Amino acid sequence: MSRDKILLTPGPLTTTLRTKLAMLNDWGSWDEDFKTITKNLRQSLLKIIKNQGDYTVVPMQGSGTFSVEAAIGTVVPKTGHLLVLDNGAYCRRMATISQKLGIKTTILSFPESEKVALNLVEKALKDDKSITHVGLIHCETGTGILNPLQEISDLCQDKGVGLIVDAMSSFGAYPIEVTSLQFDALIAASGKCLEGVPGMGFVFLRKAIIEGCEHHSPSISLDLYDQYYYMEKTGQWRFTPPTHVVVALYEALLQFFEEGGQPARLARYEANSKLLLEGMKKVGIKPFLKEEDLSAIIITFLAPTATKYSFKTLYEVTKAEGFMLYPGKLTEIETFRVGSIGAINALEMRQAINAITYALDDMAI
Ligand SMILES: *Cc1c(COP(=O)(O)O)cnc(C)c1O
Repeated sequence: MSRDKILLTPGPLTTTLRTKLAMLNDWGSWDEDFKTITKNLRQSLLKIIKNQGDYTVVPMQGSGTFSVEAAIGTVVPKTGHLLVLDNGAYCRRMATISQKLGIKTTILSFPESEKVALNLVEKALKDDKSITHVGLIHCETGTGILNPLQEISDLCQDKGVGLIVDAMSSFGAYPIEVTSLQFDALIAASGKCLEGVPGMGFVFLRKAIIEGCEHHSPSISLDLYDQYYYMEKTGQWRFTPPTHVVVALYEALLQFFEEGGQPARLARYEANSKLLLEGMKKVGIKPFLKEEDLSAIIITFLAPTATKYSFKTLYEVTKAEGFMLYPGKLTEIETFRVGSIGAINALEMRQAINAITYALDDMAI
């Protein structure tokens, strides 16, 4: 097959040919042309959150997790106390990062099948006045559940605590606008709903917060304060930027705006997701979450209970047909995940459903 395999995974994901072609040039990181791309990229990202001037965005080399670690290490002081709202694997990763940084960390756990419950967060903040920051995963990619960002943001503002949001798998698809939201830091990355290639993250920071974060970070390379000041002063990245990833993201952003921005992207992903859900229901495969809790990013499906079922076979047969699935991330029950994001639409989704159905038939399910 001459077509690349379609990635039904939440990053890396399928990118357009135009985005791939943007990576065919070499760039000098100190050169004016590349500095202009960095500047335009940051401005475009700030446009998506409808920044009125209170926020900045700082790009960071590495995968998305590097930026989560950078954000926590830079924003939360050593004397801080982070309350991590946990309903999945990425929440627990955030807690591990915070603990490893030597920050006092409290984990408030919820069932993986439920959104984080506002009243319990409110109670936790009331019961422990030493909590300085709340850590929230917007879309918990482990299951695909979307947590109540606006409500948590309102609560944090009301209680006077900081908010750090991992919006890695939702940014670009779901509305995230500082005209209604307030946060200290919000993290996303190149290779998710903006449909760039993986290799860099970016952190939106409230200027009033980042300006007070000098010397917080115990890391040299992951210090967002230093990255911010150096970039503002020189227009350059502190250390070698992933030049090809940056230009590819910029090209992907141009296409994002041409498509109609966040509302258009969400509409396409919702259409993909709806087709997927209906197609799987037809062959008796049900989602792990309640239907009203599903996001348009990724769906976790309950694996067939038939003894002949194995994820390995499902994966290999669908891969041979040109589609890559994602394993489940739940410890208790057998599941598999299928993403709806990336440069794909109804055509690819229908083909993918056919491939999955064929694979299940192959196992006589
Ligand atoms: C993808 C993702 C990350 C980052 O994962 P990396 O493998 O480091 O890119 C973090 N949080 C969430 C919710 C994600 O979906």
